[in-house]
Amino acid sequence: MYLPGVGPKRADLLKQELRIISYEDLIYYFPYKYVDRSRIFTISEVRSGMQHIQLKGRVNSLRTIGEGRGKRMVANFTDGTGNVELVWFKGLKFVKSSINGDFVYIVFGKPSVFNGVINIVHPEMDRFEESKTLLQQGLQAHYNTSEKMKSNFLNSKAIHKLVYNLFQSYKGKIPETLPAHIIEKYRLTILNDALRIIHFPRDNQSLEKARFRLIFEELFYIQLNILRLKNQRTFNIKGHTFTKVGGYLNQFYSQHLPFELTGAQKRVIREMRHDMGSGRQMNRLLQGDVGSGKTLVALMVMLIALDNDFQACLMAPTEILATQHFETIAAQVEALDVNVALLTGSTKKSERVRIDEQLRSGELQILIGTHALIEDTVVFNRLGLVVIDEQHRFGVQQRARLWKKNLNPPHVLVMTATPIPRTLAMTVYGDLEVSVIDELPPGRKPIQTMHYFHNRRNQLNRFLREEISKGRQVYVVYPLIEESEKMDFKNLSEGYEYMQGAFPECKVVMVHGRMKPSEKDKAMHVFASGEAQIMVATTVIEVGVNVPNASVMIIESAERFGLSQLHQLRGRVGRGAEQSYCILMTSFKLAEETRKRMEIMTRTNDGFEIAEADMKMRGPGDLEGTQQSGLPFDLKISNLTRDSRILQMGRQVAEEVLENDPLLEKPDNQILNRQLTKLARAKINWGMIS
Ligand code: ADP
Ligand code: MG
Repeated sequence: MYLPGVGPKRADLLKQELRIISYEDLIYYFPYKYVDRSRIFTISEVRSGMQHIQLKGRVNSLRTIGEGRGKRMVANFTDGTGNVELVWFKGLKFVKSSINGDFVYIVFGKPSVFNGVINIVHPEMDRFEESKTLLQQGLQAHYNTSEKMKSNFLNSKAIHKLVYNLFQSYKGKIPETLPAHIIEKYRLTILNDALRIIHFPRDNQSLEKARFRLIFEELFYIQLNILRLKNQRTFNIKGHTFTKVGGYLNQFYSQHLPFELTGAQKRVIREMRHDMGSGRQMNRLLQGDVGSGKTLVALMVMLIALDNDFQACLMAPTEILATQHFETIAAQVEALDVNVALLTGSTKKSERVRIDEQLRSGELQILIGTHALIEDTVVFNRLGLVVIDEQHRFGVQQRARLWKKNLNPPHVLVMTATPIPRTLAMTVYGDLEVSVIDELPPGRKPIQTMHYFHNRRNQLNRFLREEISKGRQVYVVYPLIEESEKMDFKNLSEGYEYMQGAFPECKVVMVHGRMKPSEKDKAMHVFASGEAQIMVATTVIEVGVNVPNASVMIIESAERFGLSQLHQLRGRVGRGAEQSYCILMTSFKLAEETRKRMEIMTRTNDGFEIAEADMKMRGPGDLEGTQQSGLPFDLKISNLTRDSRILQMGRQVAEEVLENDPLLEKPDNQILNRQLTKLARAKINWGMIS
């Protein structure tokens, strides 16, 4: 409010609308685009279809025409080479009182042709004499403002003026935030200049250098922060060393392996064995598309823990999934005589007591469960490994609690099927090592995806009948979003009734989140056993459910799902040897973006490609699966997709710095410490990932 041009009212608006409360906030409120104002066109050069241009000339007549909503003010504007019309539909009084035929004006706007006459609607106008300030030279910065701000005359131009005033009144140099050795080595623009140029660029070249410096700095500090955390952990924490590869793993591998491992499965298991034998604590993220066989990897890694006389646990996000893991794993290790148990919210009291006892005594070797595993009452004897499946459902804090269950923290393996673009992974999980299963088990036929409008329902039903007669099973999924829960629920139950009516010869089950766990399990079981042919469900089945005989996935109101979620749902089929299908049902009228989503889904099965597309379309902040783990900061100027190369460089420079000075103790690097502390205070939440 002390800045010339602000005052209490505008100060309040800036605070409410843009969270700008200090000079620094204002300086770091960066333009979103630039318009070239270095060139003035003559009217004879103007063509329709041009972008924003500037003209210089006089107004030689001004008149009001039309009535009601069509009422407008039209000025005839000339520069001696021709005429254009300037048109206003709003603020007519103001225009009339402020335009004066005696002055020369600079007019700025986008020309179009109407009735054979070139016109510019709602142009920006400045008297030529007054426009010769810094504000109107070269590339002009444009800033985002809200409707509320605009209606209070705080538009882009006004913001620009405020930044200008700030730089006018601030005579000093803005203190540098990067160490001199980095600035010199990479020939970066110094902060003081970069900040001035970003608001008042003279030319594209210096603007690009200034932007580079600011983007680099932002990404560099994120990487430095993550890598420093990782360093601290490596220095301070000793991991259990698993040196033995003993009876359990060998016996399983040689006698009970249900199928040949894929090359990728072998490779990631090797990577983990190496981690766990190194004396350091393993913190690894295992990424693998749906159906790539992560469960088997988890089991084999748990067997390594058992071979070293440790316990292991596997945590899943839903009861259905935990139960399924339990059944799969218990069956696979039956012959090995491994003691496995399942712990969920609905475990019976007596069973619970038994589990607790055996966990403490060490008799229980593998515990599989849901969030129930995190409770403080669950105490292990010697927990050596924690596997977290479908990681995105767990918040950072929940993971941290598991982590604290031992004095010596267990090795941690986080598994996710939500493919995360590499750049984002580097940023969100930058302190975890990453393994990727990039190969599906052999013999899988790629899922065929089709996009149908509702009017093809009959055709769809004929197709379903064919599939079911071949012995296949069908999922029908409805969206259920909390805000519109009632409506969605109605759609779901109507869909259930509809399927029962349309397929009287079939057994149809329904599964949704509001059912009691026991009912849900029962319905799931009826479907998994093959007794029911059709399952109508909400997205509770999104994660992990494995019924290899199900070959058709119908997604109702597919327009309401994001790309990653569609991909997750589709992954529920295509798990057996049969040709599988995914059918996206939508209404006929679709937004451009939705159409594009459907097009991507029908074109590719590649989870990474889909994740990249998702990130491009929605921005990383909204990316499915990262909402909870979240980007722990907001990006002011960089964009992880666009700036992936600068991100790479930021990481590399951060690595170099830490290599030479692991704990940032050298005098040269104190500026880094200060800056990290400052960022941590401003943005909080730079939480440890696990
Ligand atoms: P996800 O990675 O999605 O968790 P799962 O572990 O559920 O995948 O595996 C999907 C299916 O593939 C399961 O039915 C599993 O038994 C099977 N599978 C896993 N590994 C292999 C393999 N190497 N060869 C053949 N089938 C496999
Ligand atoms: Mg899985």
